[in-house]
Amino acid sequence: MDKRFGVQALAALLHNPHLANFLSGRIYRGPTKVICTPGLNCYSCPGAAGACPIGSLQSFLSGVSPRFPAYVVGAILLMALTFGRFICGWLCPFGFMQELLYRLPGAKLGKSSLTKRLSQLKYVWSLLFVLVLPLLFWGVTGIGIPAFCKFICPAGTLEGAVPLLLANETLRAAAGAITVWKFALLVVFLALMVVTYRPFCRWFCPLGAAYGCFNRKALFGIAVDPQLCIHCGRCAKVCGMDTAIAGDRECISCGDCLKYCPTKAIYFRQPFTKAFSPKKCTETEKSEN
Ligand code: SF4
Ligand code: SF4
Repeated sequence: MDKRFGVQALAALLHNPHLANFLSGRIYRGPTKVICTPGLNCYSCPGAAGACPIGSLQSFLSGVSPRFPAYVVGAILLMALTFGRFICGWLCPFGFMQELLYRLPGAKLGKSSLTKRLSQLKYVWSLLFVLVLPLLFWGVTGIGIPAFCKFICPAGTLEGAVPLLLANETLRAAAGAITVWKFALLVVFLALMVVTYRPFCRWFCPLGAAYGCFNRKALFGIAVDPQLCIHCGRCAKVCGMDTAIAGDRECISCGDCLKYCPTKAIYFRQPFTKAFSPKKCTETEKSEN
């Protein structure tokens, strides 16, 4: 078991500490439930201690009187500027689950120009389903809807709908066409997760899209020393994500490519240690010798 696997397992447990609720089919509604978690973890998951940032954003934009989601936007910005997509690689329970499924044996699909295009399209889906459709429905019908949670999110279906429906007969009886659609979509996503690396993170996740926009500026995360990089492309080649180079918007800072870089240009950026990037260390060492 590598270090990242252990951190991911611990983070999944910290996101969902109320395990007994899976048996009773109840949702924890205590004081921590108002806090946005860093990873994509459905509010309706019986074990969840906090709220999913995307679900919270949508809930502010839904109903008869949408409000500006200042708290949620602030929380997402704070987490994005601190960790960027390091959260995806190390802390997100849904990302962890996808990696577990990808470990199952069988034929695997690699990256291609199509997967790279799909990874760019997640910014379109995210804007459309998380912001535009909720507000459009509100403008047209007077009631905003959480379109991403309601029609797309497989994390919500797997972590929320599946355990709640299994434990609650009344909910099962009330399930309709949207539930059938979400379950069919979940089956497609689960199949994709077995054959390709983290497909939801790469092609659909709005939280990953938001964090990715701040990846190069975040305090923590993978970075490349431009003076050492020779643009050989090895980091992108060994990476499971649709990266063009380590540390870009698609990079989840897993660190797997570090050992493959021929010039040791890749490093973990940390606050207060920017002055000690590999190049500068080398120069310091040279001047000392
Ligand atoms: S493997 Fe290293 S040298 Fe090659 S492109 Fe990536 S960062 Fe640059
Ligand atoms: S570029 Fe490197 S650190 Fe980033 S996701 Fe790919 S393998 Fe991990």
